[in-house]
Amino acid sequence: MTSIGIIGAGFGGLAVAVEMLRSGHDDVRLWERGGDLGGVWRDNTYPGAGCDVPSPLYSFSYEPNPNWSRRYALQQEIHDYIRRVADKHGVTPRISFGREVTAATWNADATEWTVTFADGSTETVDLLISAVGQLSEPAWPSIPGIESFEGPSFHSARWDHDADIHGRTVAVVGSGASAVQLVPHLVRDGERVVVFQRSPNYLLPKPDMPYRRWHSALFHRLPMSQQAERGGIWAIMEQFARGLEASSPVGKVNRTIAMRHLHSQVKDPELRAKLTPDYPIGCKRILFSNEFYPALAAPTVEVVTEAVTEVRPHGVVDATGREHPVDVVVYATGFDSQDFLDSIDVTGASGEKLATRWTDGARAYLGMYVPGFPNLFVTYGPNTNLGGGSIIYMLEAQARHMRQVVDRLEAGQFDSVEVTASIDEDYDRELSEKLERSVWASCENWYRHPSGRITSNWPGATLPFARRTRTLEPTEFAWA
Ligand code: NAP
Repeated sequence: MTSIGIIGAGFGGLAVAVEMLRSGHDDVRLWERGGDLGGVWRDNTYPGAGCDVPSPLYSFSYEPNPNWSRRYALQQEIHDYIRRVADKHGVTPRISFGREVTAATWNADATEWTVTFADGSTETVDLLISAVGQLSEPAWPSIPGIESFEGPSFHSARWDHDADIHGRTVAVVGSGASAVQLVPHLVRDGERVVVFQRSPNYLLPKPDMPYRRWHSALFHRLPMSQQAERGGIWAIMEQFARGLEASSPVGKVNRTIAMRHLHSQVKDPELRAKLTPDYPIGCKRILFSNEFYPALAAPTVEVVTEAVTEVRPHGVVDATGREHPVDVVVYATGFDSQDFLDSIDVTGASGEKLATRWTDGARAYLGMYVPGFPNLFVTYGPNTNLGGGSIIYMLEAQARHMRQVVDRLEAGQFDSVEVTASIDEDYDRELSEKLERSVWASCENWYRHPSGRITSNWPGATLPFARRTRTLEPTEFAWA
């Protein structure tokens, strides 16, 4: 039996582990550096943290949850869901917590990976699967004086729940997906907030609603009804993903809706001007909120669009030289999205380092397979993030494909598998052409590597990815 080691126990690790276990591949172990499972849904506990993808779709197709309390579930509920699925499928007892992988080396003679941990210990496995995610390492801005601040200051993804922020003046640096969720909560709780916005985002209304008791009764009794809701949401999100281009009709409709949303919620023309993006819609992630604009328009909130140039012991200085006195600083500045597997020293067949291979940006066939790195699979790898849609749907597709590779390894009594270099090259060419023509190439965003390569996103809708990964094509791989 193939032994499978999975790095990370977030949604990605869970998706693969469940798929393997459901198919009878029992020799599965997961290494998690944290003390709990859940990945980003364990780490992001800022007030208002939740998912901007509707929960019936942001869940496994084989594990619908008839008890979601609302259409867009909040962090705690999603984290509970992850725990339940992990328990139900027997994943939880296979997780070793506090086990941080620092290195992995392919041993060609033994056809196995030697995995090294932070405490110096090692384990060997036939197959190594990375599920470390794309958005797990908080990105801190490099602002002079950042260390000198004397009050509480923390990243949104590492919320300091011990910090007393009540009634204080809070600086929020950044105005992306996390800020959009947390700022309204701070304002509602009575905090004075200074939002430092580097670029405005397009914001669409969020069709959120609580699920009533009759909803869950219906979902319990007639599971098809929840499947129908999931299917409807999926179909809408597919159109949304196709319409990310400003030139597409859907993109134009989205832009019109976003501008109407802004006009209806922000009456002050000066604030409205600050909040109007000047780049094509979709180039940065489109956000959903009914609460962000009203929060920014509140008298207790100031939106500063000048760059942050310095942090001082009791304030934040903008590019005009004005110091904004604040008690707390929250850095909602996103994640080191180009990190991929950087924090792990991965050595492939010829002694080559994965970090060296990826100097100009990460790439992998179908986001999962790298030539020269046999028996290494990557979940939520390069070019599998979405500008719109559910990453869980993508993770399931990836897990199914990986499972077929394991099926074939075992059936054919092969010891190793890797994608062929020519298939990888063809795929990369095709993907690069699509990506360079995509809307993401038209502004600064975190989807791009400093080399210019768009490494994060899958271009287009999710169905083509699911189709492409549905059936393993053995000739694309070298089996030995
Ligand atoms: P983000 O969208 O990358 O936003 C970071 C914000 O910080 C941006 O406004 C950025 O401005 C700003 N920023 C970065 N460095 C700065 C600096 N030096 N000075 C001033 N501003 C700076 O990060 P995020 O809000 O944490 O979200 C990241 C991703 O996580 C999302 O796109 C999404 O994929 C995921 N997420 C998802 C949800 C969900 O509901 N599913 C919720 C939260 C996060 P620029 O725009 O100018 O770069």
